[in-house]
Amino acid sequence: MWELIPQEVTCPWCGAGFEMMIDPGEGSHETVHDCHWCCAPIVVTVAVSAMDGGLESVTLSREDGSDE
Ligand SMILES: [Zn+2]
Repeated sequence: MWELIPQEVTCPWCGAGFEMMIDPGEGSHETVHDCHWCCAPIVVTVAVSAMDGGLESVTLSREDGSDE
């Protein structure tokens, strides 16, 4: 079983900080999370180590609808 890891993050839209739970058991993945404060969609990119499954980084960026 993997445990959820609480991660302090900062909203790229409004700059407010909040805590979100990251599940390293999902591996490296990208998800969209609504800001607790301004409700804007935030793209959360989670990087998990392929070696030991540990959480490497959590990056937040603005959802802008373009992949290119
Ligand atoms: Zn926000």
